[in-house]
Amino acid sequence: MSTQTGKINVQTENIFPIIKKFLYSDHEIFLRELVSNAVDATQKLKALSALGEVKGDLGDTTIEVAVNKEAKTISISDKGIGMTADEIEKYITQIAFSGATEFIDKYKDKTPEAGAIIGHFGLGFYSAFMVAKKVEIFSLSHKENSEAVHWSCEGNPDYVIEKHDKKERGTHIVLHVADDSEEFLEDAKIEGLLKKYCKFLPVAIKFGTRKEYNKVDEQDKETEVDNIINNTEPAWTKKPVDLKDEDYKAFYRELYPFNFEDPLFHIHLNVDYPFNLTGILYFPRLKRTLEVQKDKIQLYCNQVFVTDAVENIVPDFLTLLRGVIDSPDIPLNVSRSYLQADGNVKKISGHITKKVADKLEEIFKNDRKDFESKWDDLKVFVQYGMLSEDKFYERACKFNLLKDTKGNYYTFEEFTEKIKPNQTNKENKQVFLYTNNASEQHAFVEKAYEKGYEVLVMDSPIDAHFIDFLERKHQDATFVRVDADTMEKLISKEESMPSKLSETEQNALKPLIEGVLPANKFNVVFESLSETDQPMQITNPEFMRRMKEMQALGGGGMSGFYGNMPEMYNLVVNSNHPLITKAVQEQDDTKKKEMLKQSSDLALLSQNLLKGEDLTKFIKRSYELILS
Ligand code: ADP
Repeated sequence: MSTQTGKINVQTENIFPIIKKFLYSDHEIFLRELVSNAVDATQKLKALSALGEVKGDLGDTTIEVAVNKEAKTISISDKGIGMTADEIEKYITQIAFSGATEFIDKYKDKTPEAGAIIGHFGLGFYSAFMVAKKVEIFSLSHKENSEAVHWSCEGNPDYVIEKHDKKERGTHIVLHVADDSEEFLEDAKIEGLLKKYCKFLPVAIKFGTRKEYNKVDEQDKETEVDNIINNTEPAWTKKPVDLKDEDYKAFYRELYPFNFEDPLFHIHLNVDYPFNLTGILYFPRLKRTLEVQKDKIQLYCNQVFVTDAVENIVPDFLTLLRGVIDSPDIPLNVSRSYLQADGNVKKISGHITKKVADKLEEIFKNDRKDFESKWDDLKVFVQYGMLSEDKFYERACKFNLLKDTKGNYYTFEEFTEKIKPNQTNKENKQVFLYTNNASEQHAFVEKAYEKGYEVLVMDSPIDAHFIDFLERKHQDATFVRVDADTMEKLISKEESMPSKLSETEQNALKPLIEGVLPANKFNVVFESLSETDQPMQITNPEFMRRMKEMQALGGGGMSGFYGNMPEMYNLVVNSNHPLITKAVQEQDDTKKKEMLKQSSDLALLSQNLLKGEDLTKFIKRSYELILS
C-alpha cells in the first residue's frame, strides 16, 4: 500500500478545538477511553481464540501504558485483534468520528449542564485530542497475511495512512501531548488515572516510563518501571460460593484502602434479567451524624470505573452504603435528569432496594442477637430509608427496632403489645415515652420506670422526623418525651389526687413564684401530685418543643411563620408537697421568697437550665443555708 491522505468528512472545519473546549472539565477521561478500547480489542481476540477462529497461542496480552517525558508522548499498546487499513478507515475515520460529531452537535449550544454529561459520554477514540496535538495509530491485525498500518492525524480533519513494519499483533497508540496538557506527562498523574479508572479492568495493564516512543514492537524491553495496575478478577465478578467472608473484607480494603474499619456485612448482587447488574454492597458502621461520605459506592461499566457520584442511580439512602455496582445497562452517556427517568435505572434502583431489605430481614430472622448487636450502627440507615422510600418502609417495618434505655430491642409491634395495658391515654392512644438524653432527663426516666412504664431512646439526628413519621403511620400512637409534662399528665389515670392547696392559696402563691423565675420563659402551673414527688419540676411541652426543633432545622417554612419562637417551659408546682404547704404558711416574706427561690432553682438545675450568675448565686445561697 502506498501512503494515502484523506479528509475526515465533516462540516466543521476544525472539530478538535471544540472537543477540547467542551470536554474541558474532564480531560482525563481520554485515558479511560483508550485503555477500554485496548481491553475490548484484547477481549475480542480471546473470544475469537476460544471459538477457534484465531489459531495458536495468544502469548502475553498485557496492555502497556507508558509515558515518555522527553518525547512528550503517552502510548497505549495492546496485543488484541488489531486493525487493518480498511478497518481504521471505517472504525476510526468514519464511525468513531461521526460519534464525536454527534456529541458536538448535541452539546455545543448547551451551557455546562455539560460538566455532568461529558464525563459519561463515550466519546471514544477522539477524546485523545483533548490532550494531544497529534495522534498516531500503529496496528497489525490478527487476520492472516495482514499488513501493518500507520495512521496519523494532527488535530484537523486531514489524516495520513501508510504501510508500517510493525511485527507484533495489536494496536499501539501514541499521543503527542499538547503544550497545555503537559501535566499528563507526569508518571504520577497517569498512574493515578489508571488506578482510578482501570483498577479492575479484566486485562492486565502495565505502566512504565519509555525511552523511545517509535519502537512500536519493543515495549517490554524499553519500559523502565513495570507496574501491574489492576486486579483483573475483582470479587464482584466471582460467584458468591467461591468467596469467603474474608475475601469480601479483603475486597473492601482494596476498594477503600484508607478505611480501617471492617464493614458490618455485605450483599452480593447478581442480576441478569431484565437488566444486567453485578456488584457488592457493604454496610459500613455509620456515624450518628449524616456526614458526607468520603468512601462512596463506585459505579462500573464492564469493570471500567465510571463514577462515584451515584446519586441519581440509587435512592438517596442507599448512598450511605459502600461498594461496587457494575452494569452495562445504565446509560452513561446522558444527562443526570434523564437518568432518573430512565426505565432501567428505576428498575435497578428498585432491585437494589429490595435486595438490601432482603438482607436485613434475613439477618433479623436468622440471628436476631447479631442483628441487635449491629442495630445502633444500622439505625440511621434504616430510618432514613423508611422515611424516604415507601417500598423500603413496607419491608423495614418487620425489622426496624426501638431500643429502650435498658438496652432491650423491640419491633414497633412488640413494643406496642408491651405497653398497651399500661401506657394508654384518655384518647385511647398508646403513649410512647422517650428520652433523647437519658442522663440529662434522668429524673423523668426514673419516674417513668417507678410507675411501671417503658422509656425508649430516641437520640439520632433524624429521630425527630422519624417520630413524626411513625405518628403519621400509626394513628393510635403518640410519642412524648419524658420531660414533656409530669408523668401523671402524660399518661393520665382516672383517679386524681385531691389538692392540699385551695384555689385562693394557689392564686396567692403564683405571682410570688413568678417573681423568682427568669421573666417570660416559664408558665407556672399547679398540679396535685404525690407528696413524694418533687415540689417543683420543669417540663418542656412536646408540641412547643417540636416546633422549636423544626425551626432550628429550618424545616417546613416554620421559621417564617413562627418568627423566632421563644423558649417556653412549664414550672409545675406540686400542691401536695410539704415544702409548698410550708411556703404558703410562712409568715416571713423574705424567708418565703427564699424557700421558693431555692426550690425553683433546684428545678432549673435538674433540667440543666441554671447557668451563669444565677448558678453562682444559687451555690452561694446553698452554702449559707447549710450554715444557718
Ligand atoms: P467505541 O469504542 O465506543 O466503539 P471508539 O471511538 O473508542 O468507539 O472506537 C471506535 C472503534 O475503533 C472501536 O469500536 C474499534 O472497532 C476500533 N478500535 C479502537 N481502538 C482499538 C484498538 N486498540 N484495537 C482495535 N480496534 C480498535
